[in-house]
Amino acid sequence: MKQNTIALVYDFDGTLIPKTMQEYTIIPRLKLNSDKFWSQIIKEANDTEGEIMMIYMRQLITHAESMNINITREEFKLMASKIKYFKGVETWFDNINQYIKSKHHMIKIAHYVISAGHHEILESTSIHHKLTNVFGSQYYFDNKGRATFPKNVVTDTAKTQFLFRINKGKEKVSDSINSHMPEDKRPIPFENMIYIGDGLTDVPSMALIKKQNGHAVSVYPKNSKEQKKVSADLLSAKRVDFIAEANYTKSSILYKRICLLIDMISARIKYTNELI
Ligand SMILES: [Mg+2]
Repeated sequence: MKQNTIALVYDFDGTLIPKTMQEYTIIPRLKLNSDKFWSQIIKEANDTEGEIMMIYMRQLITHAESMNINITREEFKLMASKIKYFKGVETWFDNINQYIKSKHHMIKIAHYVISAGHHEILESTSIHHKLTNVFGSQYYFDNKGRATFPKNVVTDTAKTQFLFRINKGKEKVSDSINSHMPEDKRPIPFENMIYIGDGLTDVPSMALIKKQNGHAVSVYPKNSKEQKKVSADLLSAKRVDFIAEANYTKSSILYKRICLLIDMISARIKYTNELI
């Protein structure tokens, strides 16, 4: 097995888009006050020691019911079109693919999104067709197509499960990842992964990838001193290889440095596999 695929794995909220996906979609749709809604959820999580995403998904259904709105797949699809990306995101994937193709034609590239947010929204975004796979929290829909219960919940630590799924090529949630698989049989070794995130919720994923000799990057929005500090702290704690503004255009520092990382990983893959 050549193990010649490089995976770029992205967090979504704060990484590819400036806000959380809910801010563009479900919060305006249900006419919620974002601060009030989230503080209620955090309060309940503290009071009951419940899991935030579980509480959020349940509260959302309760709010929708109180407004006589059915949360359906169709609703999510309509909402997904409202998402605004950081500069250059929509052309990023083609640019990276083109870069690999022109410079490292023996290397393959895969793009994944792992998000605590709604899988149903991720599936309907304008960038979805550029992605190899997406992982996010999911609802169970009843026979009338209404979201009634959480089906899969992706928490910060659960994100690492999906990194193992990518690593072992067991991307379906129904595929067991527990059985032993020798390192050289894994389709995408951790060393070939580059994780891009934006903050503390990415720490479990970054820590796993870095421990396994992979790479991690933290991004921050232009002009946000606060978020830049979060990234800088991740860098000083050696959670990430580098930090950069969340600018995905071809002339950005992020693009140039990711290309450098790709060159480095590609050189190792080619050397190991005697691809030249
Ligand atoms: Mg994030």
